[in-house]
Amino acid sequence: AKSWTMVKHFDGAPKPEDFKLVENELPALKDGELLLESVFLSVDPYMRPYSRRMMKEGDVMIGSQVARVTESKNREFPVGGYYVAQAGWRTHFISDGKGLQALPSGWPESLPKSLALGAVGMPGLTAYFGLLEICSPKERDVVLVNCAAGAVGSVVGQIAKIKGCKVVGSAGSDDKVAYLKEIGFDEAFNYKTVSSLDEALKKASPEGYDCYFENVGGKFADAALQQMKDFGRISVCGAISMYNDAVPPPGPYIQPYILFKQLRMEGFIVSRWKNRFEEGGKQLLQWVLEGKVKYHEHVTNGFENMPAGFMGMLKGENIGKAIIKV
Ligand code: NDP
Repeated sequence: AKSWTMVKHFDGAPKPEDFKLVENELPALKDGELLLESVFLSVDPYMRPYSRRMMKEGDVMIGSQVARVTESKNREFPVGGYYVAQAGWRTHFISDGKGLQALPSGWPESLPKSLALGAVGMPGLTAYFGLLEICSPKERDVVLVNCAAGAVGSVVGQIAKIKGCKVVGSAGSDDKVAYLKEIGFDEAFNYKTVSSLDEALKKASPEGYDCYFENVGGKFADAALQQMKDFGRISVCGAISMYNDAVPPPGPYIQPYILFKQLRMEGFIVSRWKNRFEEGGKQLLQWVLEGKVKYHEHVTNGFENMPAGFMGMLKGENIGKAIIKV
């Protein structure tokens, strides 16, 4: 079995030398255990900030995968079954079955199982609950989302369209902007090339924004808060522009905007709704099958290229969900 460990804590952006590929023999299975083989692995932004909180130097990188049972001494998990696991960056692992999640029921054979790590998995659920529960978008509301061409953002925008909203998205390349238009965003802009974020936000929605699904933080958030309508709702999902900073850079003070516009701003971690994941997964699967939520995957081939896939995602190389195919 192969695994990727974190040699030392990341200092700024993760670098190739921060990762080490390790090979080891797995022991024989005991009663009640099963052996799984990773088929698709997920690389996600949270791995950067959570590495410091959850990992020691030398630990296997945290993460989830879609894995297939290849050997089993547990009748509940027969050979050939596919499960979502949280086993970290490993090609093979032994489990007693605890924590393994079956794919949502009704998953057709034709649908890639990697979607259980994307639009119908954790990122999709993040979009679903983070938007619907915190922003409560109503018909004709204007919804702003950044990192819009990514795993979470692309689903946020499409759910907002399903709810009858006008949707504005920002992303870091012209190809991503074109993709956003393709999947139904009303307005989209490249935040890296616009001369002013304020102007771009005003141009996309001169009347302002009712809902803001925040993935980026920093300067983008400073500009977006100023364009909110009174009583706007802000769902703080991520702050990817600040994950590599040991100490967040000082920013302008946002309290006056929150006060005078009477905004509501709330952070969340998707596991808050874990007892509703079945409901969310079922709805997302249905929307995907109906073509109402379209998906795109950025696939890196080969387990040995996993650090490259992770670093590439953090730099914005992905349209849609960044996935590693073993
Ligand atoms: P994405 O698929 O969106 O990939 C990350 C993207 O971040 C890149 O493609 C890049 O796109 C963008 N990015 C990188 N650096 C910057 C920067 N400095 N400024 C602006 N954008 C940047 O990832 P996910 O959809 O998985 O995650 C999106 C956000 O959601 C992250 O902040 C993540 O932490 C958060 N999240 C939160 C969860 C929660 O429970 N609260 C759960 C899951 C995700 P671009 O080319 O547009 O710059």
